[in-house]
Amino acid sequence: MKVKIPRNVRITTHSFTKFFKGFEKVEAVKSIFGEKTEEVLNNLQVEFAGFRGYMGVSDIDGHIIISARYLNNGDLIDIYLDIIHELVHVKQFMEGKKLFDDRYSYVGRPTEIEAYRHAVAEAKRLGLDDSRICQYLKTEWMNEKDLKKLTKILGVKYVPLEKRCV
Ligand SMILES: [Zn+2]
Repeated sequence: MKVKIPRNVRITTHSFTKFFKGFEKVEAVKSIFGEKTEEVLNNLQVEFAGFRGYMGVSDIDGHIIISARYLNNGDLIDIYLDIIHELVHVKQFMEGKKLFDDRYSYVGRPTEIEAYRHAVAEAKRLGLDDSRICQYLKTEWMNEKDLKKLTKILGVKYVPLEKRCV
């Protein structure tokens, strides 16, 4: 072979607090990490990636991975709530919890439900109504039945698609 292939590349990550400001003062975030909030956020890494999608947490080292496309074009409230959601996964990772437990469906997975609980509580505090919260919760890998199940677990009133604001 005459080609050269690097075999020791690293994923490029950045300090979370370099890009995301003020999260250490958000009550919803403090309720996740308590007195360790600043320390955790200061040590947290974020990766901007080229995939189509939203964001997630690496189950290898617990850093946040965000779709650059989503960050640049997505709805700001959705992005904010997603960050709250992912920070819960960061905490779960730190606790040694398995983030992608295949024994559960997505909407039945305890780690997801805990993350959604925090995001929905913050959504309600911001004054989002049930319709808007349903719109936020619904993703393309969830059908209306899944959404109904999730809203029931989270204590959000299910608003049918045709009555949802878009
Ligand atoms: Zn999640």
